[in-house]
Amino acid sequence: MQRTYASETKKKVGQQVRLLGWVNIRRDHGKLVFLDLRDKSGIVQLVVNPKVSAEAHKTASETRNEYVIEVEGKVNPRSENNINSDLETGKVEIEVTKLAIINTSKPMPFDITSDTRSVNEETRLKYRYLDLRNPRMRKNLQLRHKVINFIRNYLTDDGFTEVQTPVLTKSTPEGARDYLVPSRIYPGKFFALPQSPQQYKQLLMVAGLEKYYQIAPCFRDEDARADRSPGEFYQLDLEMSFVTQADILQLIEQMYSRLVETLLPEKKISQKPWLRISYQEAKEKYGNDKPDLRQDKNNPNELAFCWVVDFPLFTAQTEEDFFHGSGNSIWAPSHHMFTSPHPDDIPLLDKDPGKVRGLQHDLVLNGVEIGGGSIRIHDPKVQEKIFDLIGFSKEQKSQFAHMLEAFEYGVPPHGGIAPGVDRFVRILAGEEKIAEVIAFPLSGNVRDPMMGSPSEVSEKQLKELHLKLDLPKKKK
Ligand code: ASP
Repeated sequence: MQRTYASETKKKVGQQVRLLGWVNIRRDHGKLVFLDLRDKSGIVQLVVNPKVSAEAHKTASETRNEYVIEVEGKVNPRSENNINSDLETGKVEIEVTKLAIINTSKPMPFDITSDTRSVNEETRLKYRYLDLRNPRMRKNLQLRHKVINFIRNYLTDDGFTEVQTPVLTKSTPEGARDYLVPSRIYPGKFFALPQSPQQYKQLLMVAGLEKYYQIAPCFRDEDARADRSPGEFYQLDLEMSFVTQADILQLIEQMYSRLVETLLPEKKISQKPWLRISYQEAKEKYGNDKPDLRQDKNNPNELAFCWVVDFPLFTAQTEEDFFHGSGNSIWAPSHHMFTSPHPDDIPLLDKDPGKVRGLQHDLVLNGVEIGGGSIRIHDPKVQEKIFDLIGFSKEQKSQFAHMLEAFEYGVPPHGGIAPGVDRFVRILAGEEKIAEVIAFPLSGNVRDPMMGSPSEVSEKQLKELHLKLDLPKKKK
């Protein structure tokens, strides 16, 4: 017999069905045994009556929570007073004629059927595959999938090409610390994991792709921060040629509005078109550059998007230089070093760099910065000028020689943006923590308690990589 999913049973009253799944909860009433069967679609109640099948009843007495079972039975309507309105299938139940245990299970390390957010992080992450059995977690992963799928379809229809860019690459200038991967073939040399595909996407514009995007993994070796998963996160990385800043903002605004209307019709976008506000005005009016424009902050269904533009191109550096301590200059890029100065402000680059505005745009949702981007420099001379202002040495400049060189071969004007995926889905899902919308996140102290990573490696591996460890002495 073909398999029926739990959620489909409500449409099959009177029919014989075959179900496969887990025992969510077992209630033994002596004569009758009730099993809630859970599969990817939801939960349905099974009733095992010895009068219907003595054999099935015997097996039901042996089952425990989270056993994997196979069931055959008839879909019956429930009597009026037995209807469970909390359950999608609450108007039916399965009268079991056959029951088999496919696999047993140890007792759960924590209750996976109720809200697992109160369980301690270490335990939840060590048994993440059990935590993900929780319906809320499954719903979050499904929402994430739908959001990504919507974006892919929308951009594909709009003529974008998704391109995978390398994960083994070279240090990238997003201002964070890189994750390094030692090269075995070139002793003493390292790959870096990309902090973002910034340089690749610009080079794809030189290549003539014109419209690129990627659901891109990004790696930044930072301590955990409130709204970013430590270690790695995903961005909708996007770049376009021959566009103005307004074109980029409009694309994202239309796509995200449509996404919300289609996937989450219960949510209301507070203001359309989204407010566009300058950095200066945001600071003056709201005291920060990511204003929370919700009318009612207690309303979980309100989404207040806004754009912040006209950021200063540079911020004055304080202690450490943004780029691994070059320390030669007082200027650091507010966004990154490929952001174009506002054309009207180019003359100020020499006179008063602090006054130059950049063509940067930040996307803010409910007071959280969920993405940023810019129109890029496409004139190699201006690019060099920016390198000088941020105090790059010859050697540091040479690290970007490939960009300057590529820009000598007919580079189109271009720009883009990279809204975070995790952050956006977190807000849409109404979750407090970003880890709730990531299948296997690292813990707050940047470890994976399930895989046990990071972990030590063998002497042999170190030797192959020509690495010797110089570990801090353990405190006694
Ligand atoms: N690469 C930038 C970032 O990761 C985004 C962009 O400028 O498109 O923040």
